[in-house]
Amino acid sequence: MELSLIIPVYNEQENLPLLFEAIYKVMNPLNRSWEAILVDDGSQDNSLSVLKEYAQKDAPHVRVISFRRNFGQTAAIAAGLDYAQGETIVLLDADMQNDPVDIPMMLAKLDEGYDLVSGWRKSRKDNALTRNFPSMIANWIISRVTGVHLHDYGCTLKAYRRDVLEGFRLYGEMHRFIPVYASSVGAKITEMPVTHHPRKFGKTKYGLERTAKVVLDLFTVKFLVAFASKPIYLFGGTGGLFMVVSAITMIYLFLRRFFFFVSVTGSPLFQVSVMLFILGFQSILMGLIAELLVRTYHESQRKPTYTIRTIINLEQEPRD
Ligand code: UDP
Ligand code: MG
Repeated sequence: MELSLIIPVYNEQENLPLLFEAIYKVMNPLNRSWEAILVDDGSQDNSLSVLKEYAQKDAPHVRVISFRRNFGQTAAIAAGLDYAQGETIVLLDADMQNDPVDIPMMLAKLDEGYDLVSGWRKSRKDNALTRNFPSMIANWIISRVTGVHLHDYGCTLKAYRRDVLEGFRLYGEMHRFIPVYASSVGAKITEMPVTHHPRKFGKTKYGLERTAKVVLDLFTVKFLVAFASKPIYLFGGTGGLFMVVSAITMIYLFLRRFFFFVSVTGSPLFQVSVMLFILGFQSILMGLIAELLVRTYHESQRKPTYTIRTIINLEQEPRD
C-alpha cells in the first residue's frame, strides 16, 4: 500500500459526501494504491451511517474506525495511524476546510526526498480574533522553543513518510507536535502553503482554550524531545544552578558579616539561600529518579536511544 489518508470525523455528516467526492477526484488519476481511514470520533449525528454507506460501496479504499465515545481529534488520528498500511501517510480534516486537491503536490514534495511536508494555511479562513491570532502567537512560541520553524503547526493537512511516525504515541492535543518529534528522530521537514476554506457545514469544535492546552503540551513535548533520555541534565542542571546561587548568596552574607558586622541569620537572604540549597539538592535527586525511570522505559520496551535511516550489508536483528 502506497498511501493512507487518515481523517478524523466528529459530527460532519453534511461535509462527508463533499469530502469523498473531492478525495475520489484527486486519488483516481493519481495511480497509486491508496486507502482512506476515517475515524468516527463518537459523532452524535449521522456521520457514522454516512461513513458505513461509503465503506460498503468501496471496500478496498474506504475503511472506517468508530469510537465508542468522543475521545478527541488526537486520539482519532492515533487510531488511524495504528491501522494505516501506507508507506506514506496524509492527515487531513473531514470538514472540507483542508482541500484534498493539495495532496498531489505534497506527495511530489515527499518524492523529492523530504520525510514530512507540513501544510501552511497561508490565508486561513477562521475567526481572526479567537483562532488565527492566538494560533500565530502559538506557532511563533513553538517554533522558538523547539527549534523546528513552521508557520502552521495547527494545520492538520500534512504528509509523512511512515518511518518518521514510528515509535511515537500521541496524547492530549499532541498530533500537532508530530513535526517536532519527527525532527528529533532526524526527519527532513519542509512546509508549503495549502488551500483553506471557510467551514460550510457544521461548526468548529474548538475555541480560544485550545491555544492554552497547546502551550501546556509544548512543555511535555519539549521535555520529551530534549531530555527524555537524559533527564539528569535538566534536573541536575537546574538543581546545580540553584545550589550555585545559594552558595554565592551565603558567601556574600558571610563576607558582609566579617567586614560590616551585619548578622547572617537576621537577613532574609539567609532564608533564600537555605531554600535554594534544599530545592537544588532535591532537584538533583529527582533527576536521579528520572534516570531510573528512563532506563526502565527504554530497556523494558527495548526502545533504542537512536534512530537509523538505512543499514547496509547487515541483515540480522540487533544483538541484545
Ligand atoms: N474532530 C474530531 N474529534 C473532536 C473534534 C474534532 O475528530 O473531538 C475532527 C473534526 O471532525 C474535523 C477535525 O477534527 O475533521 C478538525 O476539527 P475542527 O474543524 O472543529 O477544527 P478547526 O478546523 O476549527 O481547528
Ligand atoms: Mg476545521
